[in-house]
Amino acid sequence: MTRTNRPDWPASISSPLVNPIQPSVVYRAGSPDDLDAQYAGETQGYTYAREGHPNASALAGMIDRMEGAEGGIVTGSGMAAVSAVLLGCLQAGDHVIGGDQLYGRTLRLMQQDLPRLGIATTLADSTDVGAVRAALRPETRMIVIEIVSNPTLRLADLAGLAALAQDAGVLLVVDNTFTTPRAIQPLAHGADIVLHSVTKLLAGHSDATLGYVAARDPELRQKITDLAVTMGLTASPFDCWLAERGLLSFELRHDRAQANAAALAAFLADQPGVKRVLYPARPDHPDHNRAAQLLGEHPGNMVSFEVAGGRDAANALVRACPEIAFAPTLGDVSTTLSHPASSSHRALSPEAREAIGISEGFFRISVGIEPAEQLVDRFGRAVAAAAQG
Ligand SMILES: *Cc1c(COP(=O)(O)O)cnc(C)c1O
Repeated sequence: MTRTNRPDWPASISSPLVNPIQPSVVYRAGSPDDLDAQYAGETQGYTYAREGHPNASALAGMIDRMEGAEGGIVTGSGMAAVSAVLLGCLQAGDHVIGGDQLYGRTLRLMQQDLPRLGIATTLADSTDVGAVRAALRPETRMIVIEIVSNPTLRLADLAGLAALAQDAGVLLVVDNTFTTPRAIQPLAHGADIVLHSVTKLLAGHSDATLGYVAARDPELRQKITDLAVTMGLTASPFDCWLAERGLLSFELRHDRAQANAAALAAFLADQPGVKRVLYPARPDHPDHNRAAQLLGEHPGNMVSFEVAGGRDAANALVRACPEIAFAPTLGDVSTTLSHPASSSHRALSPEAREAIGISEGFFRISVGIEPAEQLVDRFGRAVAAAAQG
């Protein structure tokens, strides 16, 4: 069997409604001159899938529009996006400041891998601009934050940090995974670079691992893109195609999940045995004023809560309700429950966990799009079981 190699195969006078998947690793050019013109950027075209393909371009363009960005790229995971930013923009001798509640692997990259390459990292509390200012050094090049922290859902002082970054001449990088562009567009709030784990809320179906990154400055954009292409951090066409489909319903899913989250937070706060509930829109949240300012009508779909009792109560809670997926992820169409002490924060000592308010009874919920009554019923049974021990 040989390929027909007809570029218009299959011929059709009509065009598909759905963008096709283009899995081809490589593209044929008409002549050396044509290829030259393409590499020189005089004509637009693809050459090799690691450098770009139509499904990545289509998805990146959609997220660009949501973020008010230009020239963003899709990467093979959220961590690939984080890596492309840190490794593409920094060099030996530089210093970077990270929020002390960043995603676990981001912390690991900054604390364990960057130092091997001669890049120093300091962690600081991103809710407190004074703490970040105190961490600045003459060689600081970058501040990396998430707007809503995991799992305690604290809000970074974005306005203060943007002003600080501008004064100090350092780059401000925002991981917008938890907040999403539905709530906030970091580039319009003084960030230089925005990135995502598209795996989570944007794609929304836990079936594609992807990331996204966009920079305001075209030179920086080029550095990040080159690093991603060179290190092979780019994305597969099929994953991009799945994420494009997921993204089409993102706003609807987000609105529904958020309404569910508000209802579930209110319900949990009334249950005996629930010691506290963390939801940014609640008046008892430590940063609710800042949440209202930054996120407006979109406080999000993440709710954390703490039950009395230790690991036994936590086990009872999870076992009482197998319909709630106990799984360390977020942003799925269905509700997922995670227990930071045994998963994302297991590497910390119990004392270090207590210091940031994570006990054995602490849970984080990524609320999905199920009927609200179903969620209330399930969590009602779960917390009742925990209270019985
Ligand atoms: C999951 C996550 C990442 C990493 O994304 P992957 O797609 O899993 O590589 C980075 N930042 C945040 C905030 C995340 O939740």
